[in-house]
Amino acid sequence: MDGADPCFTVVLPVYREAENLKECISSICAQLGDLGSFEILAVDDGSPDNSWQVITQLSEDNPLVRGIRFSRNFGKESAISAGLAHARGQAVVIMDADLQHPPELLPQMIRLWRDDKYDVVDAVKVARGKESKLRRLMAALFTRLMCRLTGFNLAGSSDFKLLDRRAVRAWLQLDERLTFYRGMTEWIGFRHTQVPFEVKERAGGATSWSYCELLSLGSNAIVSFS
Ligand code: UDP
Ligand code: MG
Repeated sequence: MDGADPCFTVVLPVYREAENLKECISSICAQLGDLGSFEILAVDDGSPDNSWQVITQLSEDNPLVRGIRFSRNFGKESAISAGLAHARGQAVVIMDADLQHPPELLPQMIRLWRDDKYDVVDAVKVARGKESKLRRLMAALFTRLMCRLTGFNLAGSSDFKLLDRRAVRAWLQLDERLTFYRGMTEWIGFRHTQVPFEVKERAGGATSWSYCELLSLGSNAIVSFS
């Protein structure tokens, strides 16, 4: 590890999160204060609102915040890939920027990595929070299909995960264009452990996924990963 490299990186995929970023980043900093050196890497996935201006401002105010900006909206999977490729930490946490993934979980996830030497800490949804019946049904069907096709149990699985540098390296070596992050982190193996969490309500704004986009995400995952 380079002496200047942080101990861990928190990667935030960002699409239309201008109104949430400030609160999100300050709650993450409040949780990480005593746990070692860290950086926060916000990946602006071509947001049409002023998310990028907010990221720029926050990084000027706080040297621990860095930003990457896409030329257009490529989707959350691409934002996650860019975050993993550019993170400098010995461990990398991926979490949503709308506070639906509770920052209060971070100290526990970091302890499981640092003290108990787990390579991957999977935050698993025990309650899915508020969502429509149709969306819940689509998610359930998708999860069941993916479990059948891949043999991995993805029930409750989320994109909220901590990955040790070894796991990040293995993930990047797969060199996939069309990624399915949740599945690929299972596929690479290593020592996993789980922490349960309840999906909170979105801090502000609305989900960015239309049903069409969810179907496209699902079919990409099935095509690329099964
Ligand atoms: N996101 C992204 N690119 C997109 C859509 C979403 O980077 O094209 C980010 C978004 O800013 C958030 C996370 O991915 O940090 C989850 O998105 P969202 O809250 O819209 O999805 P949901 O929570 O409804 O699954
Ligand atoms: Mg959300």
